[in-house]
Amino acid sequence: MIELVLGDITDQDVDVIVNAANSSLLGGSGVDGAIHRKGGPEILAACRELRAGHYGGGLKTGHAVATTAGRLLAKWVVHTVGPVWSDIEDHSSLLDACHRNSVKVASGLGARTIAFPAISTGIYGWPLDSAASIALAATTEQIAELSHITTVRFVLFDQTAYKAFERALKRR
Ligand code: ADP
Repeated sequence: MIELVLGDITDQDVDVIVNAANSSLLGGSGVDGAIHRKGGPEILAACRELRAGHYGGGLKTGHAVATTAGRLLAKWVVHTVGPVWSDIEDHSSLLDACHRNSVKVASGLGARTIAFPAISTGIYGWPLDSAASIALAATTEQIAELSHITTVRFVLFDQTAYKAFERALKRR
C-alpha cells in the first residue's frame, strides 16, 4: 500500500502525481517547476483555465485540484498547496489536509495509484521527520476510507528525505 522510492516524481508511472504547487497555480520552483518542464505546456494551460474559472483567487493552502498530466506518464496531476513551516504557529492540520484532499481528488478520478513528493519540505521549510509522519498518517488513514486507491508512493528526491520517511514508516 505505502511505498518509498528514491527518485524524481516526474518519472513515475502512476495514475496521479501530486504537485507541491503554490497558490497561484501558475508554476514555481522545485517539484512544481520539474512537473511543468517535463509535462509540457498543457498543464500550465489547464492551470490558467482553473484560474479563469472557479479558482480566480488561486488554490487555498490544504486544498487540491486536478489537471491533465500533459506529457508525463501519469494520467493526472493533482495540485495541492502545502503550508509554510512556522516556529510560532502549528500548521500541521493544513499539511494533513493537503494529503487527504489529494487522495480524495485522485480517488474521485478513479485513480488506483498515486505518487507524492515530500510536500512543504523544500522552499516551505517543513522539518522532514515531522512532514514524513504527518504525510504517512494522513494518506494511510484516507486510503483506508477509499477502497480503490491501492498504492501510495512517496518519491523522495534525496537520501536525507528518503531516510526520514523510512524512519517515520518504521515508527508506525
Ligand atoms: P514546497 O514549496 O512544498 O516546500 P518544493 O518543491 O520546494 O515544495 O520541495 C518539496 C520537496 O520536493 C523537497 O523535499 C524537494 O527536495 C523535493 N523535490 C524537488 N524536485 C523534485 C522532483 N523532481 N521529484 C521529487 N521530489 C522533488
